[in-house]
Amino acid sequence: KDRNPGESEFLQATWEVFESLRPVFEQHPEYIEESILERISEPERFINFRVTWEDDNGKVHVNRGYRVQFNSTLGPFKGGLRFHPSLTGSVVKFLGFEQIFKNALTGLPIGGGKGGSDFDPKGRSDREIMRFCQSFMTELSRHIGPDIDVPAGDIGVGKREIGYLFGQYKRIRNASEAGVFTGKNPDNGGSLIRKEATGYGTVYFVEEMLRDQGRSFAGSKVIVSGSGNVSIYAMEKAVEFGATVVACSDSEGYIYDPNGIDVETVKQLKEVGRKRIYEYLEFHPTARYGKDKSEIWKIPCDIALPCATQNEIDRESAQALVENNVKAVGEGANMPCNEEAVRMLTNNKVLFAPAKAANAGGVAVSAMEMSQNSMRYSWTSEEVDKKLQQVMKTIYKNCIETAAQYGSPGNLIIGANIAGFKKVADAMVSHGLN
Ligand code: NDP
Repeated sequence: KDRNPGESEFLQATWEVFESLRPVFEQHPEYIEESILERISEPERFINFRVTWEDDNGKVHVNRGYRVQFNSTLGPFKGGLRFHPSLTGSVVKFLGFEQIFKNALTGLPIGGGKGGSDFDPKGRSDREIMRFCQSFMTELSRHIGPDIDVPAGDIGVGKREIGYLFGQYKRIRNASEAGVFTGKNPDNGGSLIRKEATGYGTVYFVEEMLRDQGRSFAGSKVIVSGSGNVSIYAMEKAVEFGATVVACSDSEGYIYDPNGIDVETVKQLKEVGRKRIYEYLEFHPTARYGKDKSEIWKIPCDIALPCATQNEIDRESAQALVENNVKAVGEGANMPCNEEAVRMLTNNKVLFAPAKAANAGGVAVSAMEMSQNSMRYSWTSEEVDKKLQQVMKTIYKNCIETAAQYGSPGNLIIGANIAGFKKVADAMVSHGLN
């Protein structure tokens, strides 16, 4: 706390991991001798920079850019860029810290990083977005590279922004280096299924967890918060697995339709039209709209997939889910359930899939995009999807087995934290002091 004053999100994320590690330290005192906790929670590098850009009216704006290069023990720093006015150094550090363990869980050779800006893309023209991205990349380009640090998208950074960022990188570095960025357009060096990977991966992971308890998505009622990249493809896969998605949301409100949300309409509204979720009612007048987005968790459901942002489920929302007899919660977003919510859910025997494991599908396919770029070759959608399913099954198995080995059978939070931590910590010890 003294070393990171005011960084509440970062402290929340580190505390959750450290809490889980008690049994590891009892069995492995060498981690204490090597000061692994102190080393792993200190970023290798934290870059903070000014981004100046001009809007369509000639007004000059100044935003703040960040890149945290947290841990490169297992491979190049890897993690997305977020453009959102709520982005602070603390949020970037929490996301980068989580990313280290998530990336380790995929079993692929990638380290952990994260970045972004407090720039708000909402309401900006394409040209404004382009000018912002060019200015942002003018600074970031000197810190990244296919074998150093490979960014991708996150909230507010999709195919359009990645195109502008990548274009500027190529221009500055005079090199095509497709492997410097993931999440690119599949026509232009991107991997098929990357767009779908986080949402699909979350559903694959939760399906594994349900199967172990003799349940499944088939016939279940599901709530998915958000209506962005992760949410849309979580909804699509849940429906494909036979579930009914009864509600989704955006930052202004939620929609509810007991007969099932039409995912294609949400895609058209959000991916093509960049519209608000309440406009869904124009196409489906039987659906209902609510302005208080936290009310979404009061709708009865069997499975809840928070896929929007951090700390969106607090104690009260978790209590509403429990009272409505929810069976499982799967975190598609990063840290969407706060500490009290997690306690409420797990104490009431709700199956819980933590973000580090459940939403690792996106970065796993990003690592596959890096492999395809190095080989100058593309796998088909079926090939990537099959590999994604395999990765999610392996992560689930690893978490379950690790939890049992360390005395907490069935606890996927402990399993994910310990399995991710041990992989990185062992490699750090083997690399000597750095
Ligand atoms: P997007 O920007 O595509 O979508 C975010 C969605 O959440 C939007 O619909 C946004 O609404 C909505 N939203 C934001 N705040 C709230 C809120 N408080 N309540 C309800 N809805 C809200 O981002 P992504 O889908 O890419 O990312 C979502 C989460 O998943 C983040 O936590 C991210 O870190 C995590 N993640 C993403 C990965 C990826 O591959 N994209 C990989 C792993 C994790 P609006 O349109 O109004 O802003």
